[in-house]
Amino acid sequence: MNFEETIQEVYQKVNSIDNRGEMASYIPELGKIDPDNFGVHISTVDQVQFGVGNYSDKFSIQSIAKVLSLCLAYNILGDKIWKRVGVEPSGTAFNSLVQLETDRGIPRNPFLNAGAIVISDILISNLKNPKEDFLKYVQSLSNSAEFKYSSEIARSEKSVGYRNVALCNFIKSFGQIKNEPSDVLDFYYDLCSLEMSCKELSEVFLFLANNGNQIHTNKSILTERQSKRINALMQTCGFYDESGEFAFKVGLPGKSGVGGGIIAIHPDKYVIAVWSPKLNKKGNSYRGMKFLEDFTTKSKLSIF
Ligand code: GLN
Repeated sequence: MNFEETIQEVYQKVNSIDNRGEMASYIPELGKIDPDNFGVHISTVDQVQFGVGNYSDKFSIQSIAKVLSLCLAYNILGDKIWKRVGVEPSGTAFNSLVQLETDRGIPRNPFLNAGAIVISDILISNLKNPKEDFLKYVQSLSNSAEFKYSSEIARSEKSVGYRNVALCNFIKSFGQIKNEPSDVLDFYYDLCSLEMSCKELSEVFLFLANNGNQIHTNKSILTERQSKRINALMQTCGFYDESGEFAFKVGLPGKSGVGGGIIAIHPDKYVIAVWSPKLNKKGNSYRGMKFLEDFTTKSKLSIF
C-alpha cells in the first residue's frame, strides 16, 4: 500500500478548499476549539503509521466513543444485547426522539444518542466502577497512550443536555432504562468527553481491522463474528442520516463524532482517523468527509 503520497496530496487539496460548516457550539465548550485544526493519521495491520497536520493533538471524540462502549457491553452481554438496542439505520438525526414512541423505548441502533444511552445503562448495571472500568478498558486497547475524560466538556454538555435528559427519561418510561437517569447520563457525558488524537484513535480501533484481535498483543478484544458485526453497524449506522452517503462516497465502515473526528476502518488493512471541527448539516466533519472520499477514491482502498 503506497498511501503516504496520496494522504499528503489529498490533505493539501482539502486544506485549501473553504473550511465550511458549523462548530458543535450547542455544547458551549466545543465551540471554543480552533476551527482550523485539521489532522489525519493512518495505522495499518502491517504496523505502518503515517500522519499529517494536527494528528497528535487530542480532541473530544464524542460519539466515536460509542463504538468502544458498545464493544465492552457486547463483550459482557453477548447477543442478549440486541434485545435492548436494534441494528437498523434510523434515517434520523443523532439526537432524534421520534421513533422511540412507536418502538417502545428500543432505540433503532446503538450509535444514536438513544442507543448509546441504553448501552451506558447496561454498562452501569454490569461494571463495579463504571467510569474507571470503562477508562481502563479503553486504556487496555492502546499500546502506550494515556486517556482521560474532559470534565470541562462533560460539564458543559450536561449544562445544556435537555434533549438527552428527554431521551433517557422517555426510554425509562418504557422500562428500558434500569438505573437512575441522572447516573446514566453522567456516565454518557463522560463517555462522550473522552479525548484522543487521530494517531491514538487509529491505534485503538485497529482490532476492528484485525478480526477483533489487538495487533501488538494479539489479545482477543471481540470474537471474529462480533468484530464483523460492529463493522457492519458502523457501515450502516455510523453517520446517522448520512450513513448511506458515507457508504456511497467513502465505502468504508466508520463512525463520526460532533467533536469533528471520524474513524474509518478497512477490515484486514487499516484504520484512518481524521479531525476537523466544523460540521456539515448532519453533524459530521465537513473536511473529514471530503478527505475520506478523496482518499479512498485516489488510493482505491475501499471495501467496494
Ligand atoms: N455528546 C453528543 C450529544 O449527545 C454526542 C453526539 C455526537 O457526537 N454525534 O449530543
